Amino acid sequence: MRIGHGYDVHCLTEGRALVLGGVTVPFALGLQGHSDADVLTHALMDALLGAAGLGDIGRHFPDSDERYRGICSIELLKEVANLLQEHGYTLENADITLIAQRPKIAPFIPAMRENLAETLHCRQGQINIKATTEEHLGFTARERGWHATRCA
Ligand code: MG
Repeated sequence: MRIGHGYDVHCLTEGRALVLGGVTVPFALGLQGHSDADVLTHALMDALLGAAGLGDIGRHFPDSDERYRGICSIELLKEVANLLQEHGYTLENADITLIAQRPKIAPFIPAMRENLAETLHCRQGQINIKATTEEHLGFTARERGWHATRCA
C-alpha cells in the first residue's frame, strides 16, 4: 500500500466561476488559475501522483502549456486515472479537506463525490470530502484564497 499527500492553493478573484470537484458552486468570487482552478481536484491529483511515485501535476500539466488553459480539471483527473491504471495502481480511498471561509459547500459535496468517483472508477464511499474554515484567521478568512489538502 502506498500513501500520497496533495496540497493546493488558489486565489479568489472576481469574474471567475468557483469550480470544486467538477461542480460549479454559486458564489460572487471564483478561483484564479491557468485551468478552471479546481483546487480540490488539484490536491486530489497531486496525492494520487505522489502515492504512485509519478511526480506532480505541474510536471504532467504545466501551466505554461496552452492546451491546459481553462481546461476542466476533471479532464486532467481522467488522465491521472489512466496513468494510475497503466502503472497497475487502484485507489483504496481518498480523504480531502477544503479550507475556506465561505460559502458553505456541504450541499455540493454529494455531487463532487459523484464526479470524482465516476472519474476514478470507484465507489463514492471511497471518496470523502470535508470542509473547514480557519476561524477567521489566515488568508481564507480575508477571502483572498482557498486551499485543499488530501491523503490517498
Ligand atoms: Mg492548482
